[in-house]
Amino acid sequence: MKVLVPIKRVVDANVRVRVKADGSAVDIANVKLSMNPFDEISVEEGVRLKEAGVAAEVVVVSCGVHGCQETLRTAMATGADRGVLVETEAELQPLAVAKLLKAVVDKEQPQLVLLGKQAIDDDANQVGQMLAALLGWPQATFASKLGVEAGKATVTREIDGGLETIEVDLPAVVTTDLRLNTPRYATLPNIMKAKKKPLDVVTPDALGVDIAPRLSTLKLAEPPKREAGIRVADAADLVAKLKNIAHVI
Ligand code: AMP
Repeated sequence: MKVLVPIKRVVDANVRVRVKADGSAVDIANVKLSMNPFDEISVEEGVRLKEAGVAAEVVVVSCGVHGCQETLRTAMATGADRGVLVETEAELQPLAVAKLLKAVVDKEQPQLVLLGKQAIDDDANQVGQMLAALLGWPQATFASKLGVEAGKATVTREIDGGLETIEVDLPAVVTTDLRLNTPRYATLPNIMKAKKKPLDVVTPDALGVDIAPRLSTLKLAEPPKREAGIRVADAADLVAKLKNIAHVI
């Protein structure tokens, strides 16, 4: 069984994001970029399926600029077998990414596509669902447990009310949630080995995919600064302030 893991390069989770002065976009100049944390979990799960003898190959794919090769190499250093970069400088919205991934799926014919539940830059939470719809495949989103056996995936999903376990026929799209696993670190020898693993580069044109944006961003703004809280003397003071200052009761 082949597992395809789409990974996105995003602003590192520890970086304080800043909006450009003209409000047009987030400023990513000179900012540390890393693999989307949910995608690290997907790569780990794919590699564990391989180690368990369930998967024969784990292929990672990223859509974006040349620098995404670095992220693909990181995934290969933690156990993915090879990488595919769909290279473009253009802005990619979730529908465009889903269409590009569909073209890669058509070519690679995986039985399982493991995506993150969302990318922490745009927080869209759309690509997995859109990809499943474009492929006409079953989907199981927000997986916190995954079992693959006899052409089926059994997925425990994190939902508002708790946990739900569903079974889907393969091929299927699964998106990963935080509690699925703890990704391993890349060791230095594996980082060196990953440099020699195959990495194909294709373009959206070569895949015949129209990536033109369908949405336009009007403006981005920093959230308003939170004012400092105040201490109240006692319950009566609290009630008075909620009534007379906050006007909430
Ligand atoms: P989103 O719907 O944008 O929040 O992203 C959900 C998931 O789709 C991510 O966790 C990735 O697995 C995948 N994805 C999103 N954008 C890209 C991209 N540019 N290249 C590869 N995979 C992506």
